[in-house]
Amino acid sequence: MTARMIDGKAVAAELSQFIADAARRVITEHGVEPGLAVVLVGDNPASEIYVRSKTAKIAATNMRSSFHKLPATAPEAELLELVGRLNHDPTVHGILVQLPLPPQIDPRKVIEAIAPAKDVDGFHPLTAGLLSTGLPGIVPCTPLACIMLAKKVHGSLAGLEAVVIGRSNIVGKPLAQLLLIENATVTIAHSKTRELPAVCRRGDIVFAAVGQPQMVRRDWIKPGATVIDVGINRVPAEDGKTKIVGDVAFAEVADVAGAITPVPGGVGPMTIACLMLNTLKAACVQNGLPVPSP
Ligand code: NAP
Repeated sequence: MTARMIDGKAVAAELSQFIADAARRVITEHGVEPGLAVVLVGDNPASEIYVRSKTAKIAATNMRSSFHKLPATAPEAELLELVGRLNHDPTVHGILVQLPLPPQIDPRKVIEAIAPAKDVDGFHPLTAGLLSTGLPGIVPCTPLACIMLAKKVHGSLAGLEAVVIGRSNIVGKPLAQLLLIENATVTIAHSKTRELPAVCRRGDIVFAAVGQPQMVRRDWIKPGATVIDVGINRVPAEDGKTKIVGDVAFAEVADVAGAITPVPGGVGPMTIACLMLNTLKAACVQNGLPVPSP
């Protein structure tokens, strides 16, 4: 491996320390305890793990969390009613409804029911609109994590060719908007893109947010380019169990890239740290306090 490893865990630990210190100051100086409400519907094992790690991190950053679990059979109206109550609870500054939701619930309706000021995931259409028009607002966690990791390598992203593979509303599109704000030249690729390897080879930075295990290969990457792997894919392992891999064939790409994020240990831990940051910032905005910035 020749690429420099971008250690998402270490960067996330640094950011978490900043958040913990800033949250302590907000509590002691202003009497505001930033609070995140986490809502889980059903028993999806992966969601249970995500929710547990998020609530543990909230406590570690001196903030408060409340956990609300509904059964997998809960009707949509029950979840909307819960979100409505959390919207009006002054001790809750951020609301996270863990996706995916059971089939009887329309995720779009739920996302739109969250008060935009408490939309710490950054999925609300109003939040997306603010981002795309360059206005201040909450920035979705995973795209923010990607930008922070890329800046650890490049400092400034201005003028760089950035290729984003994936155009989802929660990763690809907001990531592209953030890259424009950073003055990168942005290409968004997707499942209908022709000559995808050649498109990727244009990138000084390639962001893979596809959901296809190890799809990005060595010859897709310009030598020395930075590769940020957003993918989380569970695949069979050699020992008969399963393991998590990214959207990038790590071992071979690490031989040609200049810097690369691992999976796990790259974008994942930074995404959770960015959720904590958004909760802290939301609490400050809602209470008219100065917003801490790392
Ligand atoms: P998504 O909604 O399924 O979107 C995937 C995108 O990839 C779509 O735009 C799709 O194109 C494109 N795509 C799919 N197959 C492709 C192919 N063969 N060639 C080119 N483009 C292709 O997924 P997502 O929610 O954005 O998530 C992407 C990945 O990131 C997943 O592995 C997910 O688990 C992971 N993720 C990680 C974090 C984290 O914290 N690390 C957070 C969120 C998501 P079309 O639009 O044309 O269909």
